[in-house]
Amino acid sequence: MSDPTVPTTWRHFIGGSWVEPATGEYFDSTDPATRRTLYRAARGTAPDVERAVAAARDAFEDPRWRDLSQTRRGHLLRRLGELIAENADELALMESRDNGKLLREMRGQLATLPEYYHYYAGLADKIHGETIPASDRRVLNYTTREPLGVVGAITPWNSPLTLTTSKLAPALCAGNTVVIKPSEYTSATGLRLAELALEAGFPPGAVNVVTGFGAEAGQALADHPGLAKISFTGSTATGSRIAASAASRFIGTTLELGGKSPQIVFDDANVPNAAMGVVAGVFAAAGQTCIAGSRVLAHRAVYDELLERVCERAKSIRVGDPLDEATELGPLAFEAQRDKVAGYVDLGRAEGARVLTGGAATDGGLGGWFYEPTVLVDVDHGMRVVREEIFGPVVAIMPFDTEEEALRLANDTEYGLAAGVWTTGLARAHRVAARLDAGTVWVNTYRAMSPMSPRQGFKNSGVGVEHGTETIKEFTRLKSVWINTGEEPVADPFTMRS
Ligand code: NDP
Repeated sequence: MSDPTVPTTWRHFIGGSWVEPATGEYFDSTDPATRRTLYRAARGTAPDVERAVAAARDAFEDPRWRDLSQTRRGHLLRRLGELIAENADELALMESRDNGKLLREMRGQLATLPEYYHYYAGLADKIHGETIPASDRRVLNYTTREPLGVVGAITPWNSPLTLTTSKLAPALCAGNTVVIKPSEYTSATGLRLAELALEAGFPPGAVNVVTGFGAEAGQALADHPGLAKISFTGSTATGSRIAASAASRFIGTTLELGGKSPQIVFDDANVPNAAMGVVAGVFAAAGQTCIAGSRVLAHRAVYDELLERVCERAKSIRVGDPLDEATELGPLAFEAQRDKVAGYVDLGRAEGARVLTGGAATDGGLGGWFYEPTVLVDVDHGMRVVREEIFGPVVAIMPFDTEEEALRLANDTEYGLAAGVWTTGLARAHRVAARLDAGTVWVNTYRAMSPMSPRQGFKNSGVGVEHGTETIKEFTRLKSVWINTGEEPVADPFTMRS
């Protein structure tokens, strides 16, 4: 990846080797800032997925993995974290070129990414069951937490390394093996991650990657009968299809889906900080984050000041080359995403919204798929721009008068991923956090994340927990073992024992 004008070819990574796609076909991956072809990736289809799931199954049953002590599993995760740190510059550059995320944001993500592996490294030998006090003292009843088997991880393009890690690190920590299907727009870093896992000492087949399109490789993986679980991050529509497929086979899912997260700015807020929080919530990563704070509710007493501050900062955002340290807003990740964002702003105008700043596509001076940071006002909850996920640098700002009204509007959404609250009132902070229908609530901050802190989408934003110790339950199954230590003959065989 040293010269962006020279395409490289990536094959699938299956069973620890680079594997040609069954069809022999490849597709181009494009730098969204320049529209130059970056590399070609293998176009995966059902036979490739078949091969990857078989490799993952073989690895799962291989004594080198199955019988590895949990402590040693932890060592491997720690080593993988170290290798990521050693290769951080390369990975940051790769992802920045692939999806247009700012290189400095990627460097920041890479600085913390090893911590996810180190966190789960520490957890690996703390996964255990319990002894249950059975009523009959002669009976020993204990539980064990077992790995599930082969986990399918289907990941999106907006933060491939981080969002893949949210699945990969706990899945491996719990003793599973994994088949990853990255987004067709960002195939490279998942492949490199799998290569580093092999280098770290994970056995061949523990981490496999099949690249390709959602409707081909993704669907084939989601529907594969060999999976014990599917962990997915992406749109609510695709998540719903995957959940239905998984349900038909009675396998579990962890789904991290869309959002339309509110940020509430109260009249007792530190308004300059709140304005920066709004900017961070929706313009960072060009708004292409599931947690984008894309609906802002501002108390009428601070509405004008907040608007002025947000617009002022939005107008001064430096749009351009994501590799340039001075750039603040890079491109949208691909053309259709840029068109989707533009379409929503046009729709907002047609619905009666007023564009205070932004509202136009640009090529960022590089020929790429950029969109200006955009502030919409004169909006209400009947409009699609306020109800639907735009996934771009577009924020809708509206006033409210009472705390009760703010809560009603904040919760008036099909989603429940995250929410922001800006207030200096301690009691209000707790009161409002308790009543927000969202899995993550940030007070006087936004877009904070840690491997230690669990996150869960409420309502249509997801199923299950990622991060923290809680997610380990999603990657294990619980077995209850009963051992009769008594020597007495079995009494009445027709009654239930305890
Ligand atoms: P998708 O949900 O379609 O994509 C997410 C992942 O699922 C990708 O790897 C995709 O592959 C794969 N996929 C697509 N269709 C299927 C299928 N039928 N079976 C199995 N896997 C499949 O999101 P999009 O990329 O289309 O983005 C659309 C919208 O979704 C965005 O505009 C945004 O609103 C939302 N989104 C939310 C994300 C979040 O973090 N919550 C992340 C990404 C998108 P491929 O990319 O190759 O099609």
